[in-house]
Amino acid sequence: MNKEETLAAVLSSDELPTLPTVASQLITLTAREDTTLSDIATLISTDTALSVKILKVSNSAFYSFAQQISSINQAVSILGINAVRSLVLSFSFLSMRAGKKKKVQFDFEQFWKNSLAEAVAAKLILERVKGADTEEIFVCGLLQNLGELILARTFPEKYDEILVEINEHQYDALNVQEAAFGTTHSIIGYEVAKSWGLPEVLLLPILYHHDPLSYKGSNEKIAATCKASHLSNLLISILYSDRPQEFHKRFRKEAKDLLGLTNTDLDHILNEVHKQVDQAGEYFGMRIKNTKSIQEILQEANIRLSLINLDFEQMNQELIKTKIELENLTRELKRKNKLLGDLANIDGLTEIYNHRYFQNSLDKEISRAMRNETEISLLLIDIDFFKKFNDTYGHQTGDFILKEFSKILKQEIRKYDTLARYGGEEFTVILPDTSSTEALNVAEKLRTVVDEYVFEDSQTDYHVTASFGVATARPVTDDIFSKSNLISESDAALYKAKEDGRNRVALYSEKKKWYKF
Ligand code: GH3
Ligand code: MG
Ligand code: MG
Repeated sequence: MNKEETLAAVLSSDELPTLPTVASQLITLTAREDTTLSDIATLISTDTALSVKILKVSNSAFYSFAQQISSINQAVSILGINAVRSLVLSFSFLSMRAGKKKKVQFDFEQFWKNSLAEAVAAKLILERVKGADTEEIFVCGLLQNLGELILARTFPEKYDEILVEINEHQYDALNVQEAAFGTTHSIIGYEVAKSWGLPEVLLLPILYHHDPLSYKGSNEKIAATCKASHLSNLLISILYSDRPQEFHKRFRKEAKDLLGLTNTDLDHILNEVHKQVDQAGEYFGMRIKNTKSIQEILQEANIRLSLINLDFEQMNQELIKTKIELENLTRELKRKNKLLGDLANIDGLTEIYNHRYFQNSLDKEISRAMRNETEISLLLIDIDFFKKFNDTYGHQTGDFILKEFSKILKQEIRKYDTLARYGGEEFTVILPDTSSTEALNVAEKLRTVVDEYVFEDSQTDYHVTASFGVATARPVTDDIFSKSNLISESDAALYKAKEDGRNRVALYSEKKKWYKF
């Protein structure tokens, strides 16, 4: 067949899809200059189902208008005539299905999914081009392969044969179409859309989407649309073809060459496209779900490539190795997660618990003491004259002391006691189920250990002392018990220990009787 024969056959075929009435009237209407917004709204409103679909998309994240659009009138005035015309055409195309002849290879459902994905991709791409007019790119992306649908409907058997050939030998689709029909789907799509009366802005991208540079006109919008349509084709081939790596490479290169997109633009597009395809499926009523991300697709393709040359035995070993690695990774991840959880509770300098953990832990121990009707004691510890120590030996040595100090206290306390850094050079120990006498003993033991300890770094020996405030409560029977009271009491005792000369222990007593060592 030559081009003229093919076109004549297509245009006279009773399988040639027609536009729904509203869509074709809308094209006529928008071509006239005296058309008002309200004419357009009135026309669309005659089709209730279509109006509902348009309102749904207008209010979706597809447009992300802050304001609620509740009538077609409003949609036309907010979105603009061209955008609404695009939506009407999009819905019209998406409703075109197979012709009368059943059982063809050509998968119409897949064709529209692919086209919808290309429409999304074209929009996503053009949105990254500064100053570009993106009102109609979606419908252009959707329409670019219209010619394929027409060929499949008007020449079902012949087109099936072609598809088999293309798939089996990975032939270039355009060349095969040219050989069989004397023309390509770009030209057929263009001619059919022209017969429907579509305006040039929508027609030319169909004609040039495979070779955008051959558009020589001066309309920048059309030029950009042709380029974005072409790129959308490459982008969606990463998602749906069996050669994702090849299309990924081509997409990156051509997007830079044709539209001057940067790596940041490309990363954004490549990360977003699968999500937006799924979303558009929802808005336009097509069943598209869980499209894989491009990153995932490329990763899989890489793995497949590395397995392709292995025999069964090698593949088996490879899989076992991978499984072992995976298990190790999972274990490591669990460990790291636990560590991360702990980190929020650990003081960075001393690696003992921090203030936040202390507060939570004290809450828990108080509840336990209430339940078990036991006593609870609290130590508040403050290093003596530490400011002077810092001034004399430097802050770094001060830090060293704080670390060592924490270490020795930790060694001395019981497993179920909680040592924490209260802040600065102050520490605290929660002693569950501990009477004041026992707490005084613990504090005195700690005080002695510190007093006798020689802190030695690589050059010098240091000596510090600390003061201890002790408070005890029996939460269940005490008249007025509160957590903050207990802390204040240990603080008052600590103050007393400082006042009485430091390097000593004091116990809070309501009768102001201070026990001292
Ligand atoms: P007192 O015996 O009354 O407790 O005297 P002090 O000097 O220890 O008390 P003060 O509260 O006046 O000073 C506390 C000092 O602790 C001041 C500050 O430089 C030091 N300090 C607090 N946090 C850190 C820290 O993380 N590292 C170091 N090196 N010093 C710290
Ligand atoms: Mg202090
Ligand atoms: Mg101090």
